[in-house]
Amino acid sequence: MKIYDTIDAKKKEFVPVKEGKVGMYMCGMTVQDRPHVGHMLAFVSGDVIRRYLEYKGYEVTYVQNFTDVDDKIIARANAEGVDFRVIAERYTRDYFTFADMLNIKRATIHPKATEHIKEIVDLVAALVAKGFAYEAGGDVYYEIAKFPGYGRLSKKKIDELRAGARIEISEHKRNPADFALWKAAKEGEPSWETPWGRGRPGWAIECSAMSMKYLGSSVDLHGGGEDLIFPHHENEIAQSEAVTGQKFVHFWAHNGLLNLVGEKMSKSTGHFFAIEDILKEFEPDVVRFYLLSSHYRNPMEFSRDRLADARAAVGRMRNTFRAVEAYVGDGKVVGSVEALEGADLEFWKGIAAKQDLFIKVMDDDINAASAVGHIFDIAKDINLYLGGAETKSKKIVLAKALDKIKELSGVLGIFRSIGGEIVRLEDLPQELKDLVDERTRARGAKDWAQADALRTQLAAQGYFLEDRAEGTIVRKGS
Ligand SMILES: [Zn+2]
Repeated sequence: MKIYDTIDAKKKEFVPVKEGKVGMYMCGMTVQDRPHVGHMLAFVSGDVIRRYLEYKGYEVTYVQNFTDVDDKIIARANAEGVDFRVIAERYTRDYFTFADMLNIKRATIHPKATEHIKEIVDLVAALVAKGFAYEAGGDVYYEIAKFPGYGRLSKKKIDELRAGARIEISEHKRNPADFALWKAAKEGEPSWETPWGRGRPGWAIECSAMSMKYLGSSVDLHGGGEDLIFPHHENEIAQSEAVTGQKFVHFWAHNGLLNLVGEKMSKSTGHFFAIEDILKEFEPDVVRFYLLSSHYRNPMEFSRDRLADARAAVGRMRNTFRAVEAYVGDGKVVGSVEALEGADLEFWKGIAAKQDLFIKVMDDDINAASAVGHIFDIAKDINLYLGGAETKSKKIVLAKALDKIKELSGVLGIFRSIGGEIVRLEDLPQELKDLVDERTRARGAKDWAQADALRTQLAAQGYFLEDRAEGTIVRKGS
C-alpha cells in the first residue's frame, strides 16, 4: 500500500513503525464558529484513510485535537460577553453533531489544548533549555535559525521568510519568521501561570505536545488540510524534532482544499457554507458521497450541481438495494458462496474481481473516488443479473453481492442510510415516530423545507427515511 508523503513529495510504501499498529494525528477544529464544508472535507478525508487502515487490519490510534483557546475564540467571547469556554464548548458540540451525521468516526482521543497546558508548558521549557527558543517580553519564541530542517515540508527558505499574511509581527522577535510558542497575557484574555509569567499557548505547540503525549515521538501519519503545511505543520516538526531528535512524522497526508470561488455568495453572513446549512438541503449520505468524489489530495470545487449529481447517484444505489431486497424477499437467505455453480458462480467471480480493483485503487494512495466507481460496478452487475427465474442459489449470491457493497461502502463510510435494517413505524420510540408523522404531514402540505428539516433531525439520530409509493419506510443506520 502506498501513501503520498508531502515532505518527500512522492508516494511511498506505507510501513508503520510498530507492526500492526498505526498512530495517526489529525489537526482538528479551532472551535470559534460553526464548521463549514471545507472543514468537513478534511475530516472526511482523514476518516477514510483511518477506515481503510482499519480494513487492512491495522489497529489505529487516531488523535484529533480541538484548539479551544485562540485569538478568534477570545474575540468572539468578548463580542458576546461570555467566557471563552462557552464559545469553545458550543462549537465543539457542533463539530460532533455534524461529524456524527457525516459518519465521521469519533477519534480514539479528542484532546483539547486547555486540558494540556502542563504538557505544553513543559515542552516550551524544554525548547528554551535546549536553546531552540527564547523568552522576550513575556512571550516565548521559537528561533527558526536554530533548526536546520526548517522549511523542508513547505519547501520554503528561511531567509525568504518575511513578515507577511501568515507571519505575526512582533518587536520582540529576533527574526520575523520566529513564531510564538507562548504568548504573554493581555488584559481580558484567559491565561495560565508559567516560568515566564502568565500567558497562553501559541497555536502549533499544542499539536506537538498532544501528539507526543498520546502517540510518542514519532507518528506514522499526520493529516490536515494543505493550508496547514505552512506555518502550522512546519512549526510542529521544528518543535517536536528539536526536543526528541527523532523523525516526527513518517507520512504527511494533506488534503486539497474546497474552492468556493465557483459558487456565488448569496448571503452576506459568511455562514453560507456552514455544513449545517448544506445538511438542511442534502442528506448526510449525499454530502459525504460528494466530498469523496475527487481524490483527497485534489482541490475541490464547491458545487450544488455536483451535490445534485451525488444525490442522484445515492438514489441509484438505493434502487439497487430495493430491487435485491424485493427479489430476495423478507426471509433471511442462508447459504455459502462455496456451493455456487454455473451462472451464479460466474456472477460471483465478477463481484470478487471488482473487490480486488477496489483494494488496488485504495492501496494506491487511498483513491476513494475510483473505489466508489468499483462499488457502482458491482451494483451494475447486480442490476443485470436480477430478474429471470428465481432460484435459491441466485437469491444467495445476490444477497452476498449486496453484502459486498455494504462491506466496501462501509470502508468509505458511504451509503449508511441505504443498507440499514427496516424498522416498523410502530417499533420506533414515540418521539421518533412523532417526527416521522410530522414529516408526513409536512409533505402532505407541500412544506418541503420543514419535511427536509425533520428528515435531517431523524438522520442526526441514525434513522433514515425512504419515501415509497406505499408510504415512508424507516431504516436504522448501518
Ligand atoms: Zn495541528
